[in-house]
Amino acid sequence: HVVLTDVSRTFATSHGQREVLRNVDIAIRAGEIIAIVGPSGCGKSTLLRILGGIDRPSGGFVRVDGTAVADTDARTAMAFQEPRLLAWRTLAQNVAIGLPRSARSAGRRVKTLLELVGLTHAADQKPREVSGGMAGRASLARALARDPEVLLLDEPFGALDALTRLRMQDLLLDVHAAQPTTVVLVTHDVEEALFLADRVVLLRPVGSDPSASSIARTIVIPGERPRDRADKSF
Ligand code: ATP
Ligand code: MG
Repeated sequence: HVVLTDVSRTFATSHGQREVLRNVDIAIRAGEIIAIVGPSGCGKSTLLRILGGIDRPSGGFVRVDGTAVADTDARTAMAFQEPRLLAWRTLAQNVAIGLPRSARSAGRRVKTLLELVGLTHAADQKPREVSGGMAGRASLARALARDPEVLLLDEPFGALDALTRLRMQDLLLDVHAAQPTTVVLVTHDVEEALFLADRVVLLRPVGSDPSASSIARTIVIPGERPRDRADKSF
């Protein structure tokens, strides 16, 4: 499980201090899918980078299973809006990059991951030869290759057309059902958040009231996640 305790982040800029996150308290259960929603600039990506150990909070703590996260922490893996694949490598090679160093030659694992995201037929293609949706799936497979305890997704489907986005949402739920990691998903899309998440955390920009935290509210999605789109009642 992941616990954020009183996390804050202030950046030093040429115009002085800029407070971006204030008093963020979130406890995430193992296997939970949590969505972070909020307006542009409210600190969603900053929060995700802190969770991934890429950035550090100015105050407070982040713990995964009781210990602090660090840069290149094998327990977390991140995927972004732009797939950030290596252009001169094939999709299979890009996925292999995500594998722990000791397992780089594990062709079987790459095969399984490509199968999981439906890219078996495109294993030997280069990123520029495939669609944005396929590149996104390769990026997801690369993140999963680390077998992370916590999967951090920053607007992972943001650049995709509506239909591909729906397919990716279904894929994420399938992948999660097969390999139930903890997922923290940052998205602009409230509907996406409601469809995928067990819990939705609404962030707001830090205001002048020093007692008001960055978390505006938390919505718990009741019962089971709606696995079947046809059953979606909202
Ligand atoms: P978006 O929805 O547009 O992706 P966001 O909620 O992810 O926005 P962040 O990228 O977390 O927002 O940025 C929050 C604020 O923090 C922004 O005003 C940004 O300019 C500022 N910020 C982020 N990183 C730094 C940094 N390294 N130095 C200074 N300011 C920063
Ligand atoms: Mg962002």
